[in-house]
Amino acid sequence: MAEFTFRGEETIHCKILGKTKTISLHAKNLVVIGACMKEGGLEYSAKISHNKKGMSVELAFDHVLSPGEKILQITFKGVIGEKLMGWYKSAYTVDGEKRYMATTQFEQIGAREVFPCIDDPSAKAVFVISLRIPKNLTAISNTIEAATEEDGVYKVITFAPTPKMATYALAFIVGEFEYIREKTPSGIIVRIFVTPGKKSQAHFALDTAVKLLPLYEKYFGIQYPLPVLDLIAIPDFDAGAMENWGAITAREVALLVDEKQTSSANKQWVATVIAHELTHMWFGNLVTMKWWDDLWLNEGFASYMEYVGVDSLFPEWNIWEQFAVLDHNRALGLDGLEHTHPIQAHITDVEKVGELFDAVSYSKGASIIQMLVDYIGEKDFRAGIHYYLTKHAYGNAETTDLWQDLEKISGKELEKMMGIYTKKPGYPLVIVSCKGDMLYLSQVRFFNSFLSRKKVKDTTLWSIPLHVASSQNKRESFLFDIRSTTIPFTSYWIKLNAGETSFTRIVYDSLLYERLEQPIQEKRISSIDRMGVLRDVFDSAESGYLPTDRALYLTSMYGNETSYIVWANLTSKLNVVGNLLSETDFLSAFEEYAHSIFIEVGKKVGWEKKQSDVHEDILLRALVLSSLGRYKDIPTIKRAKELFQKIVTQGRNTVDTDIRGVVYALIAESGGEEEFVALQKMYVAEDLATEKNRLGSALCLFEDPVLIGRALNFSLTSDVRSQDIGRFIMGVFGNKRGKRIAWEFVTKHWDMLLVKMEGLGMDWIIEGASEVVSENLLSDITLFFAKHPHPKLEKTMKQVLEQIASNIAWLKRDGEAIEKYLTKRV
Ligand SMILES: [Zn+2]
Repeated sequence: MAEFTFRGEETIHCKILGKTKTISLHAKNLVVIGACMKEGGLEYSAKISHNKKGMSVELAFDHVLSPGEKILQITFKGVIGEKLMGWYKSAYTVDGEKRYMATTQFEQIGAREVFPCIDDPSAKAVFVISLRIPKNLTAISNTIEAATEEDGVYKVITFAPTPKMATYALAFIVGEFEYIREKTPSGIIVRIFVTPGKKSQAHFALDTAVKLLPLYEKYFGIQYPLPVLDLIAIPDFDAGAMENWGAITAREVALLVDEKQTSSANKQWVATVIAHELTHMWFGNLVTMKWWDDLWLNEGFASYMEYVGVDSLFPEWNIWEQFAVLDHNRALGLDGLEHTHPIQAHITDVEKVGELFDAVSYSKGASIIQMLVDYIGEKDFRAGIHYYLTKHAYGNAETTDLWQDLEKISGKELEKMMGIYTKKPGYPLVIVSCKGDMLYLSQVRFFNSFLSRKKVKDTTLWSIPLHVASSQNKRESFLFDIRSTTIPFTSYWIKLNAGETSFTRIVYDSLLYERLEQPIQEKRISSIDRMGVLRDVFDSAESGYLPTDRALYLTSMYGNETSYIVWANLTSKLNVVGNLLSETDFLSAFEEYAHSIFIEVGKKVGWEKKQSDVHEDILLRALVLSSLGRYKDIPTIKRAKELFQKIVTQGRNTVDTDIRGVVYALIAESGGEEEFVALQKMYVAEDLATEKNRLGSALCLFEDPVLIGRALNFSLTSDVRSQDIGRFIMGVFGNKRGKRIAWEFVTKHWDMLLVKMEGLGMDWIIEGASEVVSENLLSDITLFFAKHPHPKLEKTMKQVLEQIASNIAWLKRDGEAIEKYLTKRV
């Protein structure tokens, strides 16, 4: 630990299937010192050669190894590094002194950086881990400690054998930790590990995990197979969390809750992360995808089940409504690109696997599961996944196994219907029009960009289960699986995909939109349907099915709106249009228009918490106040300044945690040098990750280009953890004056960022460039991407260029009409 190096000894019980003189194992950044094969009392040592590409090691024996069971012994050494992959160090402070822990991140191919192995998800084995560490430190691995032996200044901790499992879900963590624990009714020990001094922030996670574990055991009908479930808060972490079997690791902000400091939104996220990772104990760890191209079998299910788990524990959060905004809409966005990918991607190069950790695998996966559950019913779904998990337990599965197992239980033909959603890229748009007493329906593939729509000829036909809400008030359902159809229509208004459970969009003709105005205003259709109409009208405008002023006009029907998810969607759509207009000379007309939309709801929510507030009211308040501030509402900005003064003079606890982020954001958007320095000072002095995130986000929001540049440069100093650099860059891309500055920063530091962001980070950094609207910048970006190809970023680069081209084309096409609509209105 003093030198950040390690040495390892490994014994592999293996079976040689055919005569051979060589054995190849995965190994990366490792030095294999020695290897010998034990066979019938004899030992053969191997000549070791590290593969040039650096991904494997070859052991060559002089002797021909005969088939049969053998024991292979290997010694090796490696480094505990800086990048957040393999075995890496993470810093924490105790009594003002900086210290380091050593922690692992193995998914997807980090295990081979720590010990030679067959680092494929289908190569499962039982692992017995021993860690020899300094006496004063704690070691955590997948199972429970079975024995500890003293060894001079060291101790050797041996953990109980793991279940048969994949390498990517192993974990070895060594450092100073405190923990709190509880037992589930069936006797499983649940522990939350934190660095010294943070135990008081672990209670929410413990309470959530200890309740969720039995809940999932019941839901899946399968017991959790380990004696212990640990969740460990790691100060430096690449993604949000990682589902190591029995030893879930997570960012502090994704696991710790300080009741006074953590916002309701952050608390909701913590519960969601725990519910997501716990699902992986079954979907991922017990049954693993055969190869990475079926990643959605892990991530789609975890992204779906997190809502099942959170909804059971916190029904008052109404979390299923948020599914629509957080997952369904996100998936529709990414999967609307020409350069999306099918859920079941065909990837053979392990270097490109990282590309699959995106909204298609996670959110589209979850969305089509939602559609499936709605189609076959929850009872059959649960019975089906119980059957699937039991049948493939401790083994691997492919998508086709899932469909077949669900078909067997439900008796419904599913592979044909669902297979199109997993094997084909994109999703359908249902175009609806009415003439007299007939309704005309047709389906085509939806593209965000009308350039892509014109370019790509896709004749895929989807089977779309459609629920219908109408003025006759009876909910009907049918399966729309042909190109076009005509159905009798006797209602006045109609809303298709009622409940938004199917993975499709709907666009109506003008008459049907007009007839929807009143039901929207009078809230005669559900909040989720009001949200769906609004979302599709904006996105269909981008795609050229409707003029954008039609979408803007429709928003005026939402004046009485009270639903959080509708406002969340409306806010994000207005942000998209605001971004589109950010370099036009009628931006201020748009801002006045957007401002007018938030005034009424702003009066309703106010700054102060109310007795009657439910969870969504609290989220709505922060959303509305930050929008009012962004659109330059003078009283809102004035109030934010007063509250900020209070924080500066009397401490952060004087302002409620749910609006503190809004205060910081508005101070930055309307502030200058003085505010920048104040926020930066607070960031440096802050120890709490959740507060640091709020302050860091605000630092990216200044209008002054000099300050924007300073925020980016600050992200590279030792005051910012490397896990958070991406947040700064994304933040600046989201700033209407920051796009070129962010882009130039990314290109200037490209090589360094590639190294630092080796895990998941780099693609979402460049994704930030999707918001660019300028033609000049597009040609710079195109040129840079062409000169800097990268296997892990190839798909994201194409997506970014496609989205920018769409933005530019959209503005060219509709800019004038938008301007006219906005100025006429004033
Ligand atoms: Zn996951």
